[in-house]
Amino acid sequence: MCHRPMHGPTTALDAPTETGPKRMTRGRHRQGLARLPGEACYLCRVPELPEVERGARILAAAAIGRTLAAARVLHPAYRRRLPDDHAARLAGRAIVAVARRGKHQLATIDDGSTLEIHFRMSGEWLVGRAADQLPRFARVVLDFTDGTRAVLSDSRALGTARLHPPDAVALPALGPEPLGPAFTADALGAALERRRTAIKAALLDQRVVAGIGNIYAAEALWLARIDPRTPAAALGPARRTRLVRAIRAVLRRAQRAASSAAPDGGPDDGRENGPDSWRVYDRDGRPCRRCRARIRRITQGGRSTYYCPRCQR
Ligand SMILES: [Zn+2]
Repeated sequence: MCHRPMHGPTTALDAPTETGPKRMTRGRHRQGLARLPGEACYLCRVPELPEVERGARILAAAAIGRTLAAARVLHPAYRRRLPDDHAARLAGRAIVAVARRGKHQLATIDDGSTLEIHFRMSGEWLVGRAADQLPRFARVVLDFTDGTRAVLSDSRALGTARLHPPDAVALPALGPEPLGPAFTADALGAALERRRTAIKAALLDQRVVAGIGNIYAAEALWLARIDPRTPAAALGPARRTRLVRAIRAVLRRAQRAASSAAPDGGPDDGRENGPDSWRVYDRDGRPCRRCRARIRRITQGGRSTYYCPRCQR
């Protein structure tokens, strides 16, 4: 959770048709507009691999061993991918396993179909009882026959839920899992060769490596001492090795924080990796934690990049 009151609201951003991600500007992020108590600054929480994995664990804990009474889709944007007749197929079924691939959560249904969830900008699972008031940003509700429920809450409603038929899970092309054995300096080199983009932008491409987003890309490049503007194809073996290690270290650190967080998505929700513990992300103008130079913010591909101009080369 973002603990900085200056970070702006999610309240005005509820209508997905008006507010694509690009409309959210840094200025808005900085404005001290009222954020309701308990609502988080989504810019500090856009889910990446550790948060999605935490989401998958929350869903698994809430769903496995229970029977679905109903699945309800409460938002038109979600209904495009999960129309009511698809959601209706989940009634009476059970989720038997939940896995994560990249930023996708894959819930295996007992008829062999797969419910795929993507949090995108602001999704999270909130677990409770059917008698509770629905969370404000409830988009998909999984009601279980024992009176419990799991709610996909998504303030921006840019996430997706989709039911894939048995043996037909169609995910976009994804690169290796960064914490798995296939993600090596050589594999990274193969994925980056002939890429003309800067390394920061390349890391956000899910075909290069799965699960990295804006925050952990910046954090990993800082840890690896690599200038985010470096052409991706120009990274030699030594820097690629440093980068692979840094990505793993940054993600493992975040996973530790996420796994020790409150299980219900409450205030202590796992982003101990918030502004106070990030090494470089969202720290422009503040001293580098390694060399004390001032952290700089630039824009790459429409996204903010933070880096140390002195110790990242
Ligand atoms: Zn520095």
